[in-house]
Amino acid sequence: MGVEVRFWRRTVTGGGEGGRGRGVVPMGGGNAQKSAKSRERNLAKAAAEGKGSQLDSKAKAMTIQCKVCMAQFLSTTNEAGLKQHAENKHPKKAYNECFP
Ligand SMILES: [Zn+2]
Repeated sequence: MGVEVRFWRRTVTGGGEGGRGRGVVPMGGGNAQKSAKSRERNLAKAAAEGKGSQLDSKAKAMTIQCKVCMAQFLSTTNEAGLKQHAENKHPKKAYNECFP
C-alpha cells in the first residue's frame, strides 16, 4: 500500500514540475519576442521620424498663399491651379490680387 501511495505522489509532483517546466519555455520565447518587438519599435520610430521630416518638408513647401482668403498651396502647384482657385473662389478678384 505504502509503495502505491509514494508512486502516486511522485506522479503528481512530477506532473507539477512538468507544468512549471512548460511555464518556463514560453517565458524564454517571450524574451525573444521582446527583443524582436524592440527592434520593431526602433524601426517604427525611424519610420515615424522619417514621416515627420517629410511632413516638415511638406509644410515648408506650403509657400504660396492666397492673399484674399489666406489659403495655402504647395509651391509645386502650377499656375493653372492657382488661377482656378482665383476664378472659383474670387471671381471678382484679379489673379494678381490673390497671388501677387
Ligand atoms: Zn483665395
